[in-house]
Amino acid sequence: MKISLIGLGNMGLPMAANLLKAGHEVVGFDLSAAAMAAHRANGGTTADTIAAAVADVDAVVTMLPTGKHVADVCTGQGGVLASISARTKLVIDSSTIDVATARQVGADAAARGIEFLDAPVSGGTGGAVAGTLTFMVGGSEAGFALAEPVLKGMGRAIIHAGPPGAGQVAKACNNMMLAISMIGVSEAFAMADGLGLSRQKLFDIVGPSTGQSFALTGYCPVPGPVPTSPANRDYAPGFTAALMLKDLRLAQDAARAAGAPTPLGAHATQLFAALVESGAGGKDFSIIAQWLAAKTRDELS
Ligand code: NAD
Repeated sequence: MKISLIGLGNMGLPMAANLLKAGHEVVGFDLSAAAMAAHRANGGTTADTIAAAVADVDAVVTMLPTGKHVADVCTGQGGVLASISARTKLVIDSSTIDVATARQVGADAAARGIEFLDAPVSGGTGGAVAGTLTFMVGGSEAGFALAEPVLKGMGRAIIHAGPPGAGQVAKACNNMMLAISMIGVSEAFAMADGLGLSRQKLFDIVGPSTGQSFALTGYCPVPGPVPTSPANRDYAPGFTAALMLKDLRLAQDAARAAGAPTPLGAHATQLFAALVESGAGGKDFSIIAQWLAAKTRDELS
């Protein structure tokens, strides 16, 4: 297929590289000249405008920072929906954005007879490079069927979450749960440290016990027990604290719109906001363990 990928950042660039490896032709577009050059170096082609990038393709994939970027790129003047030809039946947005914008862009696309899918991802930059992302997809059955061959080039688990917006709902739920469990694991390590239980022992005991979670055994926030976790490389991301805060705020907006009670989600948002405020926004989000331990020590002293 000929695919246009708009947003060649930390995620979009390796996703485009995997589409190329899967045998697709990929026309890239980004505001950054360096990102465009990197995509060409990977074997892709680039265009100077969004309109040129999407003019004659089978599908468009966007991977952009926020809902505002997605709305501008997709529905703005000279944007995707205004510029695609009759050949294009499918637009997939894999950015993490608010549910309302995903649904609005989806409705605008549907009015033009285009299948629009919200298809945010889990797996981070590592998953984007390895081609093992999880895609949680909102949109029609017909759109999902069209998108599967494209998404398979970039991910492993491709799951149809439900109607338009359902992918973003799933993403907000997932990341809220991850943030809350990461804080829980961090609190437990701080408590164990204070009471003289070794970190490795806590890990060995809870790993096969009922307190187990991905935050502990897949992404342990203290150095030592899990060699691949960012805690072992001074919390180089990974997934930044700033992005986690963004996702928690999206989850809070979604919860308010739904009238759903999320007291722990609200508290996690406050803690990540304070962490980012302290200057750690560019570090991996699991640095919350170090920050919480230091904050508690300060408060007790
Ligand atoms: P990024 O900032 O590295 O990349 C975004 C890219 O979009 C940049 O290269 C930027 O120049 C480009 N861009 C911005 N406006 C544009 C426009 N109008 N036209 C064309 N290009 C434009 O961000 P990222 O880390 O790649 O994240 C992208 C999305 O994926 C975000 O919504 C993020 O929340 C989500 N996400 C990121 C991760 C992660 O670990 N980085 C994990 C899961 C989901």
